Amino acid sequence: RAKERGKSSFKVFNQKMHDQALKLMALETDLRRAVDLGEFEVAYQPIVCLETRKVCGFEALVRWRHAEHGTIMPGDFIALAEDTGLIYAIDNFVLAEACGQVKQWQIGFGPHMGELLTLNINISGKHFGQPMLLNQVTRALTDSGLHPSALNIEITESALMDDPAKAEEVLRQLKALGARVCIDDFGTGYSSLSYLQRFPIDVVKVDRSFIDGVEGNQDSQAIVRTVFSLGKSLGLKVVAEGVETPAQLAFLENEGCRFVQGFLFYRPMSAAEVHDLLAGGSIGS
Ligand code: C2E
Ligand code: MG
Ligand code: MG
Ligand code: MG
Repeated sequence: RAKERGKSSFKVFNQKMHDQALKLMALETDLRRAVDLGEFEVAYQPIVCLETRKVCGFEALVRWRHAEHGTIMPGDFIALAEDTGLIYAIDNFVLAEACGQVKQWQIGFGPHMGELLTLNINISGKHFGQPMLLNQVTRALTDSGLHPSALNIEITESALMDDPAKAEEVLRQLKALGARVCIDDFGTGYSSLSYLQRFPIDVVKVDRSFIDGVEGNQDSQAIVRTVFSLGKSLGLKVVAEGVETPAQLAFLENEGCRFVQGFLFYRPMSAAEVHDLLAGGSIGS
């Protein structure tokens, strides 16, 4: 009987794997088509300057508007996009689109405030190592007219640590273009602190997992404090990600935090919603 049970669970397992493989293949076909048809949109999540409580920049976040399944979030297709190489086109679409959009806001809401707006773009670790990246960034900046210093390229620690020597070179090239570089999800990877010093990094974003519950968790508090003091000594701008509650905000302010991003202030929104927000006077730095 044990043997039979074993056999049947093996069968179930196989069937499940088969179904998953089919689903993945269908998704891959869809994703390829989505890239061809341009089924992606950019959502913008404001980054808030705590001194003024106003918007000083945005993180661009991709959304897939699937014809049948509706909106698909990046968590559900970025890994597949990386495996299939489609990520290069997706990242590049977001880069070009968002640079153009932010430049428009800078013009429309300038000259005294608009030009202060910055843009954060996520670049996949896989894409980060590709020679095409520099051309794409150069192109997006030239086509949009966005000032390079307004552009922050976000990469994760693992993207840096896969090949640190190569990563350092790419970071220096991006810096040579005048762009800024930002470590995303800081604290969740394995980068050694020495790299923070060695690499030409401008910004670190404290990962949401440390902000979640920080008001009651001494370990998270210690980590967040350490990142702020590290930022101070190394001259890095620190942004707290995923701020959801007034208690989290109170802790962060008390620790000297200056920039936050999170649902407490704003969720990611459409370009049209950003326009209304900025028109309402929420812009500043
Ligand atoms: P990320 O770069 O760390 O972006 C922040 C994510 O946290 C976003 O999720 C955002 O909506 C979410 N978030 C912001 N504030 C809060 C909060 O207060 N509470 C909670 N619970 N969540 C918050 P999203 O848009 O689903 O993106 C997930 C991840 O997908 C991103 O994490 C990034 O790693 C990746 N991603 C998004 N857009 C792109 C893209 O254009 N290219 C690449 N390569 N990756 C992207
Ligand atoms: Mg990010
Ligand atoms: Mg992040
Ligand atoms: Mg992330």
